[in-house]
Parts: sequence; C-alpha cells; structure tokens
Amino acid sequence: MAKIEMKTPLVEMDGDEMTRIIWQVIKDRLICPYVDLKTEYYDLGLKRRDETDDAITVEAAEATRRLGVAVKCATITPNAARVEEYGLKEMWKSPNGTIRALLDGTVFRAPILVKGIQPVVRNWEAPITIARHAYGDVYKNVEIRVPGAGKVELMYTGEDGAEIRETVHEFDGPGVVQGTHNLDASIASFARSCFTYALDTKQDLWFSTKDTISKTYDHRFKDVFADVFEAEYADAFAEAGIEYFYTLIDDAVARVMKARGGFIWACKNYDGDVMSDMVSSAFGSLAMMTSVLVSPAGVYEYEAAHGTVQRHYYKHLKGESTSTNSVATIFAWTGALRKRGELDELPELAAFADRLEAATLATIEAGEMTGDLARITTIPNPKVLSTEGFIEAIAGRM
Ligand code: NAP
Ligand code: MG
Repeated sequence: MAKIEMKTPLVEMDGDEMTRIIWQVIKDRLICPYVDLKTEYYDLGLKRRDETDDAITVEAAEATRRLGVAVKCATITPNAARVEEYGLKEMWKSPNGTIRALLDGTVFRAPILVKGIQPVVRNWEAPITIARHAYGDVYKNVEIRVPGAGKVELMYTGEDGAEIRETVHEFDGPGVVQGTHNLDASIASFARSCFTYALDTKQDLWFSTKDTISKTYDHRFKDVFADVFEAEYADAFAEAGIEYFYTLIDDAVARVMKARGGFIWACKNYDGDVMSDMVSSAFGSLAMMTSVLVSPAGVYEYEAAHGTVQRHYYKHLKGESTSTNSVATIFAWTGALRKRGELDELPELAAFADRLEAATLATIEAGEMTGDLARITTIPNPKVLSTEGFIEAIAGRM
C-alpha cells in the first residue's frame, strides 16, 4: 500500500518520561506504516533543554509560527527535585508557558467521548471545550495584608502625569486588599483565538464574566469581545451557522449543567482554571482530554492534557509492566495531522486522522483498554492491556 504523502512538515516536539516512550511507539506502530511522515523535530526532553539553555523550546515555538501546526509530547516542568534528579544548570521554566507566551495563544481543552465511559452529568452527550484566558487577573495580582486602621487607595499616574484616584476602603481595623489588572490587547487576542477556534470546529462560543458586579473590569471583557466579534467575525459566524453568546457566569454555570454539550465555553483566567478541572473530572479522565493551543494568528499546537506520568515511568525503568493510556497523545497526533491535511488540501491525510481516532475508540468500545479506564468503565469484564498492548490492539484494527 502506498503511504500518504505530506506537503508541509509538522513541528514535532518530543518530551519526557512515559509519554516519550509512548510517543515513539505511536509513530512506529500507528502512523509511519501509513503516512510518509514529515516533521521538523525538536527534542524538548529535559536533558536537551538543559544542554541548550532552553533555546530549543524557543526554536520550537518559532518553527510553529513559521510552519503553522505542531504536535507536542508532555514535558517535565522542573522543580527542585528535578534539578537534582537531572543535574540541571537552572530550574527551567515550563515549556508550555514559554511557547504560550511566544505564540500569544489560548489553550482549548476538550474531552474525548467514548461509549462505556459515562460523564457524571448524564445529559452531556457531546464534548464541552473550555477556553481559559491565560493572562492577568488574580494570577498577576498585588496583595497587601492591611495591618490596621487606615485608608487604601487605587491610583493611576499617566505618562503625561494625569492622575486617577479611587478609595478602595477606609479601614478601621486590620484586613486584606488585592490589586489585579488586565490589558485590552490580551483580552482582544483571547477573543480572536476563541472566535477562530469556534469557526474552525463549527461550534457555538459562550463567554461569561461577572459584569453585573464588576461594572468596569469584567464589563471591559464583555465589550472587547463584542467589538472584536462585530468587526471581524460576525459574518463568518452567520455563514457557518454558529452563534456567539455572552452571559453572566452564574447563568453560564446553570446552563452548562443542563446542556447536552458541543460548544466552547470561554472563561476568564480564574473561572477557566476552576471550571476546566470540574468539567474534565465530570467527563471521566485526564487521560481522555485533548488540549490545543490556538494563536490569534491561527497557529495550532496539539498536545495531551496530562503530564509525563512519572509514576508509571519509574515502574517501566524497573522493568515492570505498565498500563498507561495513550489516547490523548494519539489524538494530539491526529489533531495535528488533520489540521495539516486541511491546510495543505490533503483530504487523504485528514481521512487517515479520522480512521486512527475511530480505531482507537473502537478498541475501547470492544472492551480492550488501559487500567485507568477499566476502573471506571460501564463495559462488563474489560480486558486490561499494557501500554504497548493497547497500542498494538489499535494497530490490529488499523
Ligand atoms: P501526570 O503525569 O498527569 O500524572 C498524574 C497521575 O494521573 C498519574 O500518576 C496517573 O495516575 C494518572 N495519569 C495521568 N495521565 C495518565 C495516562 N495517560 N494514563 C494513565 N494514567 C494517567 O502528572 P504528574 O505525575 O503530577 O506530573 C508528572 C510530570 O508531568 C511533572 O514533571 C509535570 O511537570 C509534568 N506535566 C507536564 C504537563 C505538560 O507537558 N502538558 C502537564 C502536567 C504535568 P496513577 O498513578 O494513579 O496511575
Ligand atoms: Mg487548576
């Protein structure tokens, strides 16, 4: 059988630990037998990041901007223990953070639905994708523990010396105070990433804030979204038959619980942090969650939402059998290959991505799965496969 040809290479970002092992097996057993795989390879494994003083991460992000589509393996974000374990020169920053900052992107997380793994919320029939704004608010706050009676003021001094001053509170005893900020430019980028992704996946977009209470701060988010939508996306949305819908966060939460799914929910930084954990646990498993970074310029980086599965890796190093779920990593590859197929007008490449996803889901639906899913499935007597055994079962179906 002739292999499917590619035109433009994918940016391939290799990673660490158990996911690095899975990465190679997916390529060898599920992709390379069918696709004449073209990639520009960047090794973001921790050893290589340390050797290059993390320049490799920046190069990979720049390549993504140039080529348009990347697929990334999970990587270690070093902490003190990792500095010792790997003898690092420095506690390098999170590669995801570095890449996100360079591409100015928004992360969209969506669950992978399969028969036999039921969401806790029984009316959720289609994925709910969460888009979290990744800049500012409480994550870049300034806080003071107010020691006792006194006045707290908020003051802006313009470059021209103009002043704006507001009293936050006249304290008559001790308390706390917090200052947060955001930027019109960052909110507008977030809005563009959300509108781009909604058009791309033909799903409605919801956006929610607390603008009834925060009449200036949250209201600014609402206005920026509305302005960007009207000026740049309203016609395309109408043409695609999808809707942009703004509502108060309380109302959004209530509606999400009663919805059937199949939409994108854009959230401010804190709301997105909290709601994505709720939605992903309610859908079943972090190992069944995809994640894609979309830049406002329309550049895409696909990955799994979970980490490098360190505990399984240490078992693997001891020669013990593991049962690590590769579904999210497989879907990172299929997401990237499908997008490349669309951009390069290679329908057979996009069709291959569909086939590989279908074979993966069919394997689970036939009762063959890794241990994490076997524990929560409603399928009777599931067959628990090893890391490699599960990929082999998919290869058999392919
Ligand atoms: P993790 O890799 O997500 O794993 C935490 C636990 O979740 C695992 O021990 C396992 O539970 C379960 N799990 C996660 N993915 C699974 C899979 N594919 N199949 C089966 N079970 C899975 O998080 P971590 O162990 O806290 O972090 C390890 C490293 O990953 C850290 O160095 C962190 O910096 C990095 N990380 C990277 C990313 C990224 O690159 N996007 C994201 C998060 C974390 P059991 O042990 O109960 O089987
Ligand atoms: Mg969180």
